[in-house]
This record gives sequence, C-alpha cells and structure tokens, in this order.
Amino acid sequence: MKLLTLALATTAIVAASFTGPAGAQEKGTVGIAMPTKSSARWISDGQSMVKQFEDAGYSTDLQYAEDDIPNQLAQIENMITKGVDALVIAAIDGTTLSNALANADAAGIEVIAYDRLIRDSAHVDYYATFDNFKVGVQQANTLVDGLKERFPDAEPWNVELFGGSPDDNNAYFFYDGAMSVLQPLIDEGKIVIASGQMGMDTVGTLRWDGSVAQARMDNLLSANYTGKTVHGVLSPYDGLSIGIISSLKGVGYGSGDMKMPIVSGQDAEIPSVKAILRGEQYSTIFKDTRELARVTVGMVDAVLGGGEPEINDTETYDNGVKVVPSYLLEPLPVTAANWEERLVDTGYYTKDQVQ
Ligand code: BGC
Repeated sequence: MKLLTLALATTAIVAASFTGPAGAQEKGTVGIAMPTKSSARWISDGQSMVKQFEDAGYSTDLQYAEDDIPNQLAQIENMITKGVDALVIAAIDGTTLSNALANADAAGIEVIAYDRLIRDSAHVDYYATFDNFKVGVQQANTLVDGLKERFPDAEPWNVELFGGSPDDNNAYFFYDGAMSVLQPLIDEGKIVIASGQMGMDTVGTLRWDGSVAQARMDNLLSANYTGKTVHGVLSPYDGLSIGIISSLKGVGYGSGDMKMPIVSGQDAEIPSVKAILRGEQYSTIFKDTRELARVTVGMVDAVLGGGEPEINDTETYDNGVKVVPSYLLEPLPVTAANWEERLVDTGYYTKDQVQ
C-alpha cells in the first residue's frame, strides 16, 4: 500500500514538473494583465503574447480582469508578490496603478504599458501601441468616404459622435484624431451634429460598453431625429458599433427606403466584419495584435537582456509624470472593398470565420 502511494506521489510530482506553469522556461516569467475577455481582440492579444513569449524562452502568467479595476489591481499585485521579471499591462483604468507600479519598481520588475498608456506613474518603462491619433483620423476618413458614397446628395450630413472610455488615454487620441478631420467639415457646414453633443466629457462611453452606446443612440434618435435622417455615426470601437447599429435598426434604418447610416469602428472583430459584409457597419480599423505582441516580446527580451528596446516615438505619450518611450504600429482601415486583402490574405482570419 505504502509503495503504491509512493509510486503515485512520484508520478504526480514528475507529471507536475513536466506540465508546470507554461513549461517552466529559463529566461524568466512575464506577468500579462489584460482588461477583459468580453472583447475578442484582448483574447487574441493574450494568446499571441503567450505563444511568442514561450517561443522566446519565457514563462507567462496571463490574467484577465473582466473590466473590474480592483480585480486587475489584485492580479498585478499578486504577480509582483510572485516575483515576475516583467509586467505587461493593458490597464482598465490607466490612472489607478501608481502604487502597484511603485511596488513593482522596488522589486526591480520591468513594466511595459500594452496598447493603453498607464498614467501618473514614473515606473512605466516602455509603451507598445498603435498610432492612436491615426486610428481616429482613419475612422473619420472612412466615415466621410462612406457619407459621400451612400448619401451623395444629402449634404449637410447629420452625424453623431461617440467616444471611448474616459479612463482610457487612447479614447482621447481616437477622438482628437477623428475631430482633426471632422471639425473643419463642421465649420464649413458640410457636417451637422444635430444633437449638439460634442467633446469627450459628453460623448465618452464608460468601459467601452456597447449597451451604454446603444442606450445613448436610442436617446439621440428620439430626441433629435423625428422627421430628420441620421447619415453617419462616429464609433470608436466595434463593440459600440454593434450597439449603435441595433439601435438604428430598431427604428427602421437599414430597411425599406431608410438607408443604413455610415458607422465606423475599430479592432476588426468578427461580428463587425460580418456586419460590414452585410452592409450594416461601414468600416473598422485593423490593428494586428500579432504584431503588437511581437513588439512587446522584443521590448521585454531587450530590457531583461540588458539591451535597448526598439522604439520609434519619444514625444507623443506624456503620462503626466514622464514621456514614455514608445513603439507605434500602423493601423489599417478595413471596408467591404479590402477586407479580404487585409484580414484573410494576412492570415488573421480564415474566410470561413467571417463569411
Ligand atoms: C484599444 C482599442 C479597443 C478599446 C476597447 C482601446 O484601448 O486601443 O483597440 O477598441 O480599447 O477595448
């Protein structure tokens, strides 16, 4: 009996050491804190990073916090206590991590802000992201292209504006980028914001919540569009676009002679690509999460190896304490005209996934 127990225990130990955390790599452990699994893009980010970190010889501890700030804080503190070598963080609220990062710094842990800037902390070593201002420019450019294409004779066009989450630094870059295109057209009288609602403090959508956007669109329609047509909606993220489109369809847009307004988006999530192919959403912005993972793994590998990571921007991202050295990737607009080339030919999706 004793022998059997011993044999079983030994097997368990051997099994544990073989299947241990992500294969127990040699170069160190990286804690990866992601905001939520409710959006597919963050799932892709997590998967790409785990794969690429492991290929580069690191163990990973990947955690999702379901958009709950205390939950993310606890996950990060736990990673610090466990003694990870580096932290890669896509913050839910970019302003709430100062104390945790001071602890990380005291423990000698490198910190990379992933996609979203972490604000109000000196202990953010690098930032890997996309050119967020350009994302907004591209969203507005596709919106204007769509208005010209679908409503050539309806100028001035009635447009409504949506912003991202006010606690996400990116949301301001997207909005400012978009307004750099739209404001001159508003000034020229080519675009009218019928509700008059403008500015991130008015049009922001807390936690990027699609149902909040849907409810706001319902209100905008009932308060401003009786006997008036809405031609376009600036939406900064696919999850909001889906809510906005439901609201529009709910009052009859997209059927009979009520043409679907032009709705933008971001992240090329599958439901939105499908909506683009159905003619309901007009555009999205593709940000290749595999590339963002590649840049991030390169940064971590360089700092932990005592080298200098590759950066291409040392001016744009002031987090309130310092300008964080950054690497900005190029976003790409996607419409019904180029989805296959951008999303399928690049191997990001298979054709079956979106059709
Ligand atoms: C990201 C976007 C994303 C949004 C909502 C932003 O910080 O940059 O890609 O659409 O968060 O998850």
